[in-house]
Amino acid sequence: MTDTPRYPFFIVSGPSGVGKNTVVEGVRQAVPELQKATTYTSREPRPGELEAKMKFFVSREEFERKIQDEELFEHASYAGNYYGTPKKELLALLSEGPAMTDIETQGVKQLLETFPREKLVTIFLKPSSVEALTKRITARAPISEEELAGRVARIEEELADAKLYDHVIVNEEGKVERTIDQVGEYVRAALG
Ligand code: 5GP
Repeated sequence: MTDTPRYPFFIVSGPSGVGKNTVVEGVRQAVPELQKATTYTSREPRPGELEAKMKFFVSREEFERKIQDEELFEHASYAGNYYGTPKKELLALLSEGPAMTDIETQGVKQLLETFPREKLVTIFLKPSSVEALTKRITARAPISEEELAGRVARIEEELADAKLYDHVIVNEEGKVERTIDQVGEYVRAALG
């Protein structure tokens, strides 16, 4: 059993490409007491990420050991790499103050089972339409028809899970500031 942390853990989720990271960074600027919850990954760091301590970067072997030893609240495979939320480091952070991060949707389902519910606030970002999101995905990098069909199927599955979340917001094209304000309000309301 996990002890209930003192402060809440805010999760921003939603399909790939919907803008989770931008929203988390924007809300953290608007609510300075909100800490960034650092999570683990086996993917290679991108330029500047190590210095900025964006994530805990570990080998696949080290990540698999963490799964074995039950050191994670949740974990998922995404684009061939592991991602996961650590128990010890997150609970230490939440004894100091509230924290936020973005995670993909499979991880949220696990957190709903493993993390003390009364201190978990889940926010789902929806695209204005599946077409708007696939446009954004194809603009980022060229992908095959087959891969696109796979992505669309996954997006539809993820959208169907929106009902599991405390808050659902449409992150409209070109209106991310509005989304950030809205999420900021949810955060302030939860912090009281
Ligand atoms: P990126 O490699 O672009 O940083 O992240 C890829 C995806 O993994 C994003 O959808 C991000 O929200 C998700 N992600 C980041 N950290 C975690 C985590 O700890 N657990 C899970 N389940 N997903 C994560």
